[in-house]
Amino acid sequence: MIFSFSRLSLYESCPYRFYKKYIQGYEEPITYPLALGKGVHKAIEDKINGVSHSEAVLNGIIEADFHPEITLEEMSDLVSHAPIKKNIGATEVHFKLPLSEEESAPMIQGYIDVVTADGSKIVDWKTNRRRYDILDNNQIGLYAWAIGQMKNRSTVEGNLYFLRFRKESKHVFKQADMEKSRQWALGVANAITSKCEILDLIPEEAGNLFLATPSSNCRHCPFAIECFRKFRRN
Ligand code: SF4
Repeated sequence: MIFSFSRLSLYESCPYRFYKKYIQGYEEPITYPLALGKGVHKAIEDKINGVSHSEAVLNGIIEADFHPEITLEEMSDLVSHAPIKKNIGATEVHFKLPLSEEESAPMIQGYIDVVTADGSKIVDWKTNRRRYDILDNNQIGLYAWAIGQMKNRSTVEGNLYFLRFRKESKHVFKQADMEKSRQWALGVANAITSKCEILDLIPEEAGNLFLATPSSNCRHCPFAIECFRKFRRN
């Protein structure tokens, strides 16, 4: 399995949901926040690459697959809040790297919204209704580590830009910060890999290996009914 921040993060929040989605392959429905995030990212990317605002917004609506809860106005507002400057950097920068030097190291990949030419700064656009601190999770630390590897840099400034609020949360990631995020990713990826190996041998142990972990996220979980029945039975 090739890991990503969102996969690792889903495993951490609920291993059973991770199991349903990434091991059993059940597709989760495209919710309003997911569709909005996808559309806004596409529109901002287009604008950075020279497409007019109105055309970029339209492309965003198409990318969001005309989700019924997304209006042209909301898309346009969010896109207009992105502080796009000339030569801001490359968009949707892909990375795919081993998480350690071991031959069997798990691979991690991701897309970074904006990376400056020298790799000194990265930006991730957020459409969230609630702001949080860039250090509240390992996403940008991990992305900074990836850019550090690719551009041979010991520091990378990471920025989370909350479009609704026109506010950013930023941090200059030094080698120790990047290493901390890499170690986190490696630890979670190794835990998943070990469980998958056991699962191959004893598939009936899936529910014990990948424990359902109730939280506020259950409200938006497509496996909630099945999960509730399972809890009741046990
Ligand atoms: S309902 Fe909650 S506990 Fe169950 S799989 Fe979904 S997120 Fe996990």
